[in-house]
Amino acid sequence: MPSPSAGAVVARVEYGGVCGSDVHMTRGEFDLPHAIVLGHEGVGVIEELGEGVVHDYAGVAVTAGDRIYWCPIAPCHKCWYCTIEKDFSSCTQATWFGPVDKPTWGSYADFVTLPEGAAFFRIPDGTTSEAVIAFGCALPAVLQGVERAGGIKPLSHVVVQGCGPIGLAAVMLAKLSGAATVTAIDASPLRLRLAEQFGATGVLDLASTSLDERLERVRAVSGGRGADLVIEASGHRSAFPEGLGLCARNAAYLLIGLWASQGEQPFDPSLIVQRNLRLIGTQYAQGRHYHDAMKIVSLHHQAFPFEALITHRCGLHEARQALGLVTSGQAGKVVMRP
Ligand SMILES: [Zn+2]
Ligand SMILES: [Zn+2]
Repeated sequence: MPSPSAGAVVARVEYGGVCGSDVHMTRGEFDLPHAIVLGHEGVGVIEELGEGVVHDYAGVAVTAGDRIYWCPIAPCHKCWYCTIEKDFSSCTQATWFGPVDKPTWGSYADFVTLPEGAAFFRIPDGTTSEAVIAFGCALPAVLQGVERAGGIKPLSHVVVQGCGPIGLAAVMLAKLSGAATVTAIDASPLRLRLAEQFGATGVLDLASTSLDERLERVRAVSGGRGADLVIEASGHRSAFPEGLGLCARNAAYLLIGLWASQGEQPFDPSLIVQRNLRLIGTQYAQGRHYHDAMKIVSLHHQAFPFEALITHRCGLHEARQALGLVTSGQAGKVVMRP
């Protein structure tokens, strides 16, 4: 285990979150420049601080033994997106996964080395590591997406397509934002139950409802208008035309889950024009979203069953099974526990 260079941090991994993106990477659906250690979600205990590191990226003092939660992308702060647009998630020269023969922060590992520039935050005492890792990269991704979409308005009607960790984080955020109704759609009874625990006011089972029935239900709870905000968190292209159809006039349609679902999908673009819709895409999240995600979990850990979201804890030798569980629909959150 190498000592951290100046500005870097070495941490012992407590939990590495297993994300749907990891599955896409192992299937070769995402271009990687070299072999990597998987795992972009993690919480751990500081083992050693590099020279000059005395506080986290929110100014909170840190020392060896403190628990931290980190953003896996270190932006360059030198490119167009970092400097002119201040959108660090679009950085063109970000340090993502390092090569496997160097210290890396892939979290399917016993230890990680966070390079200088990778934002990390001290987990407050009284907030469990499991509560923080439960939403891994999902809550930060939703926070960034909702920010791009202009927020969730109080008393609005929200539909969330897909109730994996991203969808559940979206359900919770809609609830916390004061949405009048939050309707969650999924085919897994387990996930629909979780959606209710995280604030869904209604759930629609894909397996037992038709597209027309779902549209009817969403209209019934929204005064006949449809949803003011639809959040796609399913990763299935077929969700796209349905999501458009569920939108009320002047609604926003936020697309998060379709990140790795490349391919064509027929839909009627006239709906976008005739209903004055806004379509918003988003990918990754920035340091501030990781900070805010941790704060939200910390503030609301008594109101929502974050730890209960974790249904499977796998050792490093069970990584393949862990990846399989993520796509099975039978799991809530799967985490690696080195
Ligand atoms: Zn992820
Ligand atoms: Zn940059």
